[in-house]
Parts: sequence; C-alpha cells; structure tokens
Amino acid sequence: MYIGRFAPTPSGPLHFGSIVTAVASYLDAKKNNGLWKIRIDDLDKPRIALGAERQILSRIESLGLIWDGKISYQSNESKNQQYTQALDKLNDLNITYACECSRKKILTNVLIGIDGPIYDKECLTKNLQKNKHKSIRLKVTSQNILFKDTIQGDLKQNLEKLVGDFILKRSDNVFSYQLAVVIDDYLQSVSHVIRGSDLLNSTTRQIYIGNLLGLPLLQYMHVPLACIDGKKLSKANSNKIILNNPNSLLIEALKFLNQKQCDDLKDATVNEIIKWSILNWDINRIPKKKKIEISSFN
Ligand SMILES: [Zn+2]
Repeated sequence: MYIGRFAPTPSGPLHFGSIVTAVASYLDAKKNNGLWKIRIDDLDKPRIALGAERQILSRIESLGLIWDGKISYQSNESKNQQYTQALDKLNDLNITYACECSRKKILTNVLIGIDGPIYDKECLTKNLQKNKHKSIRLKVTSQNILFKDTIQGDLKQNLEKLVGDFILKRSDNVFSYQLAVVIDDYLQSVSHVIRGSDLLNSTTRQIYIGNLLGLPLLQYMHVPLACIDGKKLSKANSNKIILNNPNSLLIEALKFLNQKQCDDLKDATVNEIIKWSILNWDINRIPKKKKIEISSFN
C-alpha cells in the first residue's frame, strides 16, 4: 500500500516551497491510489508559532488537498515513549555514547561536513553516563550508504566523511529530527517520502537509523527547492510572492513541478484542478534539480 505524508513544522504559514511539496506528495499518493497523511512536526517547541498549525491546515484545505485519517503530532505523549524505546534499542546495540560538548566547543571542530562541523569524537572514549543533561550521539561507519531517489537518481554517502557521529537526543532532552522522523514515518506506515531537496542530505542518516532498528526502507523523492536569489524561501523573502488565490497557487505549483499545462484550468475550481492533475500527474517530469529560482508571480 502506498502511504505518503506531508509533515510541516508549525513555525509559520506555508510558503510556496512547502506548498509545492504538499501538492507533489498529495498528487503522487493519489495517482498511486494511496493514502496521504499529515503529521505536525512540533517537536522543537521554541520554533512553534502560535496559530501556525491552523493556518497551515486551512491552507491545505483551501487547495483541495484532503488528508486521510487522523493528524499525528510529534508532541503527543505516546510519541515520546516510542522515541525513547528506539533510543534504548540503539543504546543496547552499543553504538551510542553520551556527549557533554557545548555547541561553542563543537563549532571549533576543524572538519566541516555537509551539515556543519564533523564531531571530533572527543567524548567517545570518556564513557560518560547517559542522562538527561547530556546529548546522545550515534556512531557512524565509513560504509557507503546508497539509495535511489525517484527524482534525483542514485545517491551515495559516507556518513563518517560527510556527517560524523550525529545527535539522537539533544542535551535539552529533545529528540533529534533524524531519529523522530524515522519513528514517525514508521508509526504512520509511510512508504513514500516526498519532500524538499534541503532534506536530501538527511536521508542517509535516516536510512542508517532505520536499518539499525530493522525498519523497512522507504522510497524517497526530493523535489527541487524554490529559491529567490539562490536562497531558500523564508518568512523574510517569501512575502515578495503573493499567494492568496488558491487556483493560481495550485497552477504555479504545477508549473514549478513541470507538469502538463492546460489553459482550461485557469477558471476551473480547485477541485477540478486537483482531479485533472491526479490524472495527468507524471513524476518523471519533475526537474532533476536541487534548486529552482522563482520570481514573483504575475
Ligand atoms: Zn562531546
């Protein structure tokens, strides 16, 4: 069974890039007679903006994207138990260690990887006790991790060279995105992950964790990021883009994804556009690019 998902962080309203991802994941799920689930990624409390979740959901509804089943929340108490269980399992495999290095100290690590400094393993041999005031790191290996991204093609990463031993739980006792997302996808029986290419580099870490926990491998598809002047859309630069009319927004998202155009759709309802787009959806038309520049819409 195809199960796709959209997992926004309620840090603000959806910008065009997130809308593109929502549309792509919805259409691909529906084209494959699958389910499309929503998860609110609200683990990192300081990032949450008041009212953002309601704004996001009403935006999704206005675009005619109908989710299946109940919305799942990372902040749900039962989730915390599941993350803890997963961490315990990894601890039992003897591939984790506690780390007491401050952020400031980590920034002095000389080697820089794809996601910031590569941890110098200073705490690896200290044998520190794991408690809620220390972060927990996962040991990585030099073995290449390979996967085939439906859009970006074959990818290979050596976690030791490019990432280093990474954090599963932070010293403020919050589980890392990398661990949480693997467990969340498993709990929602997700089979296909469609998201922005800013998360492409996280994929091998997630595959690595999933393998260690014995979870099924997912199919990944990373859509190009919408950029303005080379920068990912953010609160600051996305107000250059006016996104109020759901019809034009959908059509712009479909254009961005290089889907077949149809002039008749300009005056169609959102539901008609969605219906037409499911029928005509072709994932192979999505450009194999990490970024696409957009200017303001007409
Ligand atoms: Zn350390």
